[in-house]
Amino acid sequence: MREWEKHIRKVEPYTPGEQPLEKDIIKLNTNENPYPPAPEVIKAGREISGEMFSRYPDPEAGILVEALAERYHLSREEIFTGVGSDDVLGMAFLTFFNSDKPILFPEITYSFYEVWADLFQIPYKRPKLSDDFRIEAKDYKVENGGVVLANPNAPTSIWEPLEKIEEIVKYNQDSIVIIDEAYIDFGGQSAAALLSKYDNLLVVQTFSKSRSLAGMRIGFAMGNRRLIQAMNGVKYSYNSYTMSQAALAMGAASIKAEEYFRETTKKIIEVREWTKKELLRLGFSFPDSMTNFLFITHKAVEAEKLFCWLREQKIFVRYFKKPILEDYLRVTIGTKKDMELFVQKAEEYLDLTK
Ligand code: PMP
Repeated sequence: MREWEKHIRKVEPYTPGEQPLEKDIIKLNTNENPYPPAPEVIKAGREISGEMFSRYPDPEAGILVEALAERYHLSREEIFTGVGSDDVLGMAFLTFFNSDKPILFPEITYSFYEVWADLFQIPYKRPKLSDDFRIEAKDYKVENGGVVLANPNAPTSIWEPLEKIEEIVKYNQDSIVIIDEAYIDFGGQSAAALLSKYDNLLVVQTFSKSRSLAGMRIGFAMGNRRLIQAMNGVKYSYNSYTMSQAALAMGAASIKAEEYFRETTKKIIEVREWTKKELLRLGFSFPDSMTNFLFITHKAVEAEKLFCWLREQKIFVRYFKKPILEDYLRVTIGTKKDMELFVQKAEEYLDLTK
């Protein structure tokens, strides 16, 4: 081994979902929104030209922060924005988790948390979920260097009521509790409602799911101004011009297109409920999803085989080859037409394997 090789930071990276280039597939593998962004958002993107390309973007993300502050009834100082919520969460880990005590996040949750903890050399513990995949408040009422919970959780799709979240935030006044609400707009109630009561709470959301902007990479955090100031301190010590002017303009336009946002999220929820009924009819079981995906399993079917078969049929879903998760498939809610085809193909597979 060469001397310099010994000093390379070793990490087990996060595995992102596949982004295949084929156009004729049904893509239900990365929880994207099947509808395009609002027309105003596309228009805002088209208006980006000339000087905006040659100049650096606004490092303070002013137009986006302003729009978010107005929408969520907060001040600008209570909002942090970044290149997708992954960027925001990564910055939050780097900013807040610097004690010797382990941070806590569930054994089954968004797998990036473990990757950031490893990357930033933060000790961590992963309490188990209950048998029905619920987060148990008591597991987070122990000494810790911080808490991270996805609510709704991924890939389980389960939303925990705000009382449980509050119990955890309230107990942990001495550490920062991050609530990752990537999927909150599909029926859950946001912990942003607790922000005025707790200065140790950071709520993180994204434009990638409910706002059809996964490609623009926009995420944000809401929290007490001291938390946001600390995150900005770290951000400006690393990379100040993070978000492109196109992302800022499109993000701000998206926040203003409230009616379109309501309509598309409503459509996704309706299609999700339709899909649940159909899958129950076929004998699948799944937690009661409050997200734009279903976490499904079937007694008579090997998840990996169904995953491969669906793929041959050009339907992409997500399969995690890990203990517990390996019996399940995570299926994003697409359009009604996508889901009709998905259900039809799942039924065909069940008939084939009878
Ligand atoms: N949190 C959770 C729970 C997620 O599932 C995702 C999507 N992979 C993210 C955060 C990150 O999303 P983005 O960076 O697109 O905002």
